Amino acid sequence: MIVIAIANQKGGVGKTTSAINIATAMAASGWRTLLIDLDPQGNASTGVGVGAAQRDMSSYDVLVDEIAIDDCVMTSSIPGLDLLPATVDLSGAEVELVGVEDRTHRLRKALASHQGHDICFIDCPPSLGLLTLNALCAADTLLVPLQCEFFALEGLSQLLQTVEQVQQRFNPDLGIIGIALTMFDRRNRLTDQVSDDVRECLGDLVFEAVIPRNVRLSEAPSHGLPALIYDHSCPGSRAYMALARELIGRLPEERKAA
Ligand code: ADP
Ligand code: MG
Repeated sequence: MIVIAIANQKGGVGKTTSAINIATAMAASGWRTLLIDLDPQGNASTGVGVGAAQRDMSSYDVLVDEIAIDDCVMTSSIPGLDLLPATVDLSGAEVELVGVEDRTHRLRKALASHQGHDICFIDCPPSLGLLTLNALCAADTLLVPLQCEFFALEGLSQLLQTVEQVQQRFNPDLGIIGIALTMFDRRNRLTDQVSDDVRECLGDLVFEAVIPRNVRLSEAPSHGLPALIYDHSCPGSRAYMALARELIGRLPEERKAA
C-alpha cells in the first residue's frame, strides 16, 4: 500500500476537495482505496456520503486508543472507496496525546499492520500540529494543494520546512509527489501570475493539471457525493481525473500493485 498525505497548513485551499475527488478517481480506476479523515471537521467523511450520525469508530479511536484501522473503517457511498471517518472528539486528540511517547507515530504504527487497500489518502487538518505530524510520519509521500493566491508561496515554504524536519527526525523516506494548483481562475490575472511564479520556483514538482475554480466542486459535498460522481463532466471533475492520471504516472512502478 502507498500512503499519500494531503497537507497544507492553510485552511480552505482545497485539501479536502482534492482528497475526496482524487480518492474517488483512484477507486474508479480499480485501486482499493482508503480515505483517512484526519480533520475534526469531518468534511471528507461527509463528502463521501458518511454523515456525522453514521460515524461510529473513527480516526480518534485509532490514534488515541490504538484500535486497529480494520475495526474502524466503513464503506463509503463510492464503490472501491473505504473511509476511516473523523469525529469531533478528534479535536481533543492533540491534548490527550501530549504525554504519550509515540504520539507522532500512532498512525504510522496502525497503518504498518493494515492490509486490504492498495492506496491510502490522508486528509489533514489546516495546521502543522500533531495530527498533521502523524500523517507526515505515516506517509510515503505528500501531495500539496496550493491555492493560486498572493501568499501561496510563503505558506508553502513553511510547509516545506516542516517536511524537512520530519525527514530529519522521523521519516527520512518522506517524499513530495507533487503540488496541485487549485481554485485557478483564468479571468484573474493574479492567479495567472501566481501559477507562473510557482512553476518557475518549483518546476516539475507542480502537476500539469490545474484545478479550476468551479462551483460544481463546492456544491457536490452538500449532496454527500464527490464532484466526480455528482457531475463527472464538469471542468472541476475533468481536472481531478487528469490530476489522478498524472499522480498514477508518478507512483513508483513497484508500488502500482492494483
Ligand atoms: P481545505 O480542506 O483545504 O480547508 P476545502 O477542500 O474544504 O479546503 O475547500 C474550501 C472550500 O472551497 C469548500 O467550500 C470547497 O467546497 C470549496 N472549493 C474547493 N475547491 C474548489 C474549487 N476548485 N472551486 C470552487 N470551490 C472550491
Ligand atoms: Mg479540509
